[in-house]
Order: sequence, then structure tokens, then C-alpha cells
Amino acid sequence: MAEVPRLLCVHPHPDDESIACGGVLALAADRGAASAVVTCTGGEAGENLAGIDLGTEDLASHRRRELAAALAELGVDEHVWLGYRDSGMAGTPENEHPEAFVHAEVDEAARRLAVEVRRLRPHVVVSDDERGTYGHPDHVHAHRVTVRAVALAADEEVDLGGLAPWRVAKRYVHALAVERLLRMHAALREAGLASPFGDEPLIDVDELPFGVPDAAITTRVDVREQLPRKRAALQAHRSQIGDDSFFLNVPDELAEDVFGWEEFVLEAGVAAPGTADDGRERDLFAGLDVAGAVGRGG
Ligand SMILES: [Zn+2]
Repeated sequence: MAEVPRLLCVHPHPDDESIACGGVLALAADRGAASAVVTCTGGEAGENLAGIDLGTEDLASHRRRELAAALAELGVDEHVWLGYRDSGMAGTPENEHPEAFVHAEVDEAARRLAVEVRRLRPHVVVSDDERGTYGHPDHVHAHRVTVRAVALAADEEVDLGGLAPWRVAKRYVHALAVERLLRMHAALREAGLASPFGDEPLIDVDELPFGVPDAAITTRVDVREQLPRKRAALQAHRSQIGDDSFFLNVPDELAEDVFGWEEFVLEAGVAAPGTADDGRERDLFAGLDVAGAVGRGG
């Protein structure tokens, strides 16, 4: 019998898991796969965008409770804090804090993460891309640390508390396809709603701090069925979502196109032949010898 598939998603802050991978995490639960999320920092530098009355509670502990609620919505089996501090945006005072994630040596942080990789033995690991998806320093660092951790975990010469080496079969980065962003912008404008890209009818794609050309996307996962849970997980991070956020305000008929697909670029491992006419994978586990994987008897 093929193994139960195991997925590990690495994210810098609480809420990133729901935004970037909420669909594939909920899908993992639906298909009986094991899922884990590593959060690198406590999100201490976030703002209380919704103006929630925290009473005597600090934002970090409030965000821990929000994250727990989001992970429950998504049916995530295991959560690990990597133990660093939110670095904030470039140029802010949080960036200077000695415990800020950006100041962690890549090797030191990667060893912490590699311990989790060896313990959890994921077939698939997902993180930000090398640009940090949208440029936040913690997101850039999370990519470096994840790449290094996957290498350390597989290295038989590296001792990590006696844990057996583990080779991750496929390492992905989550991606925002530029074409989808442009479609979303047009659809929001057409519906008379605020677009996160402003009021101009056309966006200069080269000016965007993020977005991956459509042609670079290797994997496109249909998470429309998981969408209600992804949206519930996003809403669980209420302090990070202002009332004007399009996460809350996108109408249901647009939500499927905006949030109903999650896209990835395979950075390490072998892509399985696509099952759809666009030639792309439809499953993060495609081609692997795990239960239920596309392209296998499983
Ligand atoms: Zn983040």
C-alpha cells in the first residue's frame, strides 16, 4: 500500500499559511494526507488593522489564537513555531531587533527547520519564492532557510539529534500568476469594487512587486471545493484584515476565480506530466508513490 502523503508548508508569519496555501492545506485534510505548518515568526510587527479591542492582551498572543483558529478551519495536523521575531517591513525599527528573523543565520535557522523536516518526513515542502513573493524581508529569508533546510535534512553527514536523513521529493514555491492578478483587477473594477492595485484600468506589470509569468507556473491546484474553509481561515486572522480588505469584500461570484486556484512553481524534484490541457500538474503529490496521487495507482 502506498504511503499517506505528507505536506509541509513553511510561512514567515501567522496568516501567510491561509493566504498562500489555505486551499492545498484543506485539500490535504480532505484526501487523508498529513499536513504541517511551520511559522517562522510570531507576527509581532503586524498591525491591528481591524482595530480590535485587545484589552490587556498583546498583538502577538492574539495572533497566536487567530492562527490556531485558522489551522483548525483548514484541518492542519501539526503546527510548529520556529521561534523568531517578526522583522517588519524593510526600514522599520522592527527590522533592527536582534531576534528578528532576518538576522538569523541561514544555517542556524535552517538547522531548526531541518529537524522538523526529518521528524515530519514530508514528501512535499512549500515556501515563498526567492523574491519573498512580495518582497517582505521575512518572506525572502524564509525561502533561503527552506532551501537550505531541505538540503541539510537530506545530508547523511549532518547530525540533527540522531534523526534519520530525509529526502523531500518535491519542493515548491507558491506563486501569484500575473495573468490572474490582471484578471482579478479587471473583474474588481468591473464590479465597482476597490482593487488592491488601485483605480487605474491598466496595471504596469513590470511595476508590480510580485507576480510570476503564467508560463513559469508548473502546478495549478483546484481548491474551489475547499474555498469556504480557506475564506474562514482568512477571516480567523481578523486583526490582519482591515474592513476594506478585498479578502473580505470579494463577492462570491469572483471569489472562485480569485481564490479558487492555488499556483506553484516546482523548484526541486520532478514534475509529473500534466493531466489537464495546459500541461501543468494538478496535484502537489503528482507522480509520487503516495496514496491518491495523480498519475499513480495509489
Ligand atoms: Zn507574511
